[in-house]
Amino acid sequence: MEHITLFGNSDYTTENLQLFRDVDDVRNLLADCPVARVGAGETVSDSSSRGGQLYIVLRGALHVAPAAQGDGDSTESRILPGECVGELSVLDDEANPSVITAVQTTDLLIVESARLWKMIEESHGVARNLLRLLSFRVRAANAQLRRRQKVGEFYRQMSILDGLTGLHNRAWLDQHLPTLIADADAEGKPLSVVMIDLDNFKQFNDSYGHAAGDAALKTAARVLNNALRPADFAARYGGEELIVILPDSSQSTGVRVAQRLCERLQQTAVFADMHKPLPHITASFGVAALAPGQDAGALLRSADAALYRAKEAGRNCVAEAN
Ligand code: GH3
Ligand code: MG
Ligand code: MG
Repeated sequence: MEHITLFGNSDYTTENLQLFRDVDDVRNLLADCPVARVGAGETVSDSSSRGGQLYIVLRGALHVAPAAQGDGDSTESRILPGECVGELSVLDDEANPSVITAVQTTDLLIVESARLWKMIEESHGVARNLLRLLSFRVRAANAQLRRRQKVGEFYRQMSILDGLTGLHNRAWLDQHLPTLIADADAEGKPLSVVMIDLDNFKQFNDSYGHAAGDAALKTAARVLNNALRPADFAARYGGEELIVILPDSSQSTGVRVAQRLCERLQQTAVFADMHKPLPHITASFGVAALAPGQDAGALLRSADAALYRAKEAGRNCVAEAN
């Protein structure tokens, strides 16, 4: 960075400088501030240098990027003629956590900290413009935060939901079933699970194609979702196996729910597209209630054993744990 002159000796005008808009007598205020020329790609300041100066772009453009181990709050931005960077470092006297480089040959007006503070004290206009600038920065930071929260929520949802059916996925189940069991134990309440496996689904796929199979799985998921209470949970256990968790429900309640699900599923039409209904699908259901001292694995094995008996009994039916 090479100091080329003082602002008072330069040809630059003040009318386009954001921070000095509608401020009287700016030329005098800035007269002996240095103007420096920075070559393309050259660094203006980095996070290791102590803050305390404001840079106003007179010509060219700056690129502002978070430092390598930045605080994560900043984002990349471009500072164009008339705009400034570094005001926060002046105000809080902290080093600028960004790396500022020139995109092309850039002329910068440099305002030292002490001078900027003096201007703030002496000029309402400068103070007003600075407040305006800060409120703009706060709004931009808030908007960025909201965007990040949305993206974060999207990925969180992706990690616990099954992409095909929209039900909770296996990872969710592995994490939450133990908690639901611990809650039931602590409150002395029953809890039942229903393990569900679509019947002859391989044959369904073979006859109507994998896409039709996917449509059938989605239909089954919708039937479950529509039939359950808000307190119940449905998850895709894997492949064409689904599971329902019924908090505060005994095994006999679980059996009643499973029978209802079984009937609704066999009555529900599956559409591969809007016009062509496919044969109805059925499923087999295994119900188990939480036994004292049982963990998630043992409960699932018990429901699975019941499901096996439902298959043995001819499918499209409900069996319960012994
Ligand atoms: P059973 O009544 O004994 O359960 O017979 P089945 O044919 O359903 O059992 P099997 O385990 O032999 O086959 C399960 C089939 O489910 C095979 C597999 O292709 C299909 N399947 C698993 N996941 C998906 C999926 O995401 N989409 C589709 N279309 N098919 C799936
Ligand atoms: Mg299966
Ligand atoms: Mg099956």
